[in-house]
Amino acid sequence: RQAAFRTDLSVLLEQVGSGKESLSFMKRRIRRLAQQWATAANRLDVKLGQRWRDQKKILVHVGFLTEESGDVFSPKVLKGGPLGEMVQWADILTALHVLGHNLKISMSVKDLQGFLGVPPGRGSCPLTGPLPFDLIYTDYHGLQQMKQHMGLSLKKHKCHIRVIDTFGTEPAYNHEEYATLHGYRTNWGYWNLNPRQYMTMFPHTPDNSFMGFVSEELNETEKRSIQQNKVNNMAVVYGKEASMWKQGKDSFLEILHRYMEVHGTVYYETQRPPEVPPFVKNHGLLPQHELQQLLRKAKLFIGFGFPYEGPAPLEAIANGCIFLQPKFQPPHSSLNHEFFRGKPTSREVFSQHPYAEQYIGRPHVMTVDYNNSLEFDSAIKEIMKTKVEPFLPYEYTCEGMLERVHAYVQNQDFCVPEPPFVPTNFSRQGSAAAVRPNGPLFVPIPNSTALGWTSNVTAPTAWPPLSSLRLLVSQEGQSCVDACHSAGFICEPAHFRFINNKESLRGLEVQCEVVDSEINHILPAFSVLRRECGLQREPLLFSCAGHSPKYRRVCPCRDYRRGQVALCRDCL
Ligand code: UDP
Repeated sequence: RQAAFRTDLSVLLEQVGSGKESLSFMKRRIRRLAQQWATAANRLDVKLGQRWRDQKKILVHVGFLTEESGDVFSPKVLKGGPLGEMVQWADILTALHVLGHNLKISMSVKDLQGFLGVPPGRGSCPLTGPLPFDLIYTDYHGLQQMKQHMGLSLKKHKCHIRVIDTFGTEPAYNHEEYATLHGYRTNWGYWNLNPRQYMTMFPHTPDNSFMGFVSEELNETEKRSIQQNKVNNMAVVYGKEASMWKQGKDSFLEILHRYMEVHGTVYYETQRPPEVPPFVKNHGLLPQHELQQLLRKAKLFIGFGFPYEGPAPLEAIANGCIFLQPKFQPPHSSLNHEFFRGKPTSREVFSQHPYAEQYIGRPHVMTVDYNNSLEFDSAIKEIMKTKVEPFLPYEYTCEGMLERVHAYVQNQDFCVPEPPFVPTNFSRQGSAAAVRPNGPLFVPIPNSTALGWTSNVTAPTAWPPLSSLRLLVSQEGQSCVDACHSAGFICEPAHFRFINNKESLRGLEVQCEVVDSEINHILPAFSVLRRECGLQREPLLFSCAGHSPKYRRVCPCRDYRRGQVALCRDCL
């Protein structure tokens, strides 16, 4: 059946249910953004023209909100607990509903069993018939519950699953045997999914799919009135829980106070939290729409280093604030920071909100060293003088999210095998391709010599299409994430199967004495010193994130749309 856009959200609101603060929070959000979603749906409808869209049967099982997983989030909704996940789930549900799919929502193991048609009870009962859904969106908790209650049949059906995974799961952690043998075992990984089945909150490692969420959009009139009513010396501190203020208490909060009136939205029960200095005007935890109003007046939204990578900075920037955040040197990661410990990623985080730093940047975002009071001081002064317009990257608008989710739902298929395919004519992009000596080898340097695949034989149907492929080689020790990024592209894990071959090594003019095929997440790659080239033997370990000091990686990059990094130019 063909899916038709929906602009009425009443059925969805009913499906979400009630009786918990988390559900009320999500429903308030869905209602508040309803008009915005409707406008976006109409626009995307026009943009996609008469294109056929399959209506999919989709189950959304929100594992972390089930009683069976302990549901630690719901009781904290009104107490400053994390809300980012709820923001995202509300938006995922809305996007799938608006896109016109046939949606079922489960918030308990009982619902899950009912929808899947497995007998209720505690034990593991295989699902005997076919899976009654095309797609199942869940999280790590939900995945565990499915394993418990579907038993072995989970394996058969797991290509239909999508795991909403805030911080991401890198391939080395996802591959059970490899993770166990090489020290990548955590509480979360080792599900042997295709890494693109994990869907993240921000575009972290492109090994996973970027799901995202939305932020409020302003029309031109609102934008103008916001700019007129900005209070140049008003700052709002990012952090709704008192503990987040600990690091900021002394020096830089004092400096900030010298220039600006400082506001906070820190939750408290009866007494003002001692972490919040007396000169701060604390509003207590605000409902989302009231926070928006506060941000509309404020000039500065300032982070103290925690929480990492939440939605609030995007909301602040969308409301015309400048976001000031600390640089992390050395970077935070699972090796040195409690918060990331045990998370299935080696990603290094160089500031509180890397997306804001890398994808938005100045003038909307300033990332400075908070230990350097001079640098901090001059940043505040600069912010008070700088005029900025409200800004929201397209990928965080309702239309952007609908477009992306539409593309995933229609095109990502992990149930069909993805065999290797060897394009035979890798050729240089552009005319004067500089090939520069580098040690004993002659290897093309990124930027100047992206190799593209120009198709004149029939390409396999692939998504993203093969036309988007650009072949690059990284510097020693550099990952494909960084190599592609520095050349203006993005690493595309779906393209590894096209470049994991001798032809691409030849195209890059890599001189190999031996070409081995091994199981290692840094492959395909080669060692300059030893003139050894390695291809990947285990497709699950194709990894954009992988890097190793003595190795240069062979990287499948692709182009992307401005403001929609998840999609290549020909991806729609
Ligand atoms: N938020 C809110 N009231 C407040 C402060 C924040 O409703 O007083 C909302 C905010 O609009 C954002 C959400 O909390 O959408 C999550 O914010 P944050 O970036 O702090 O991420 P978290 O750590 O909660 O996931």
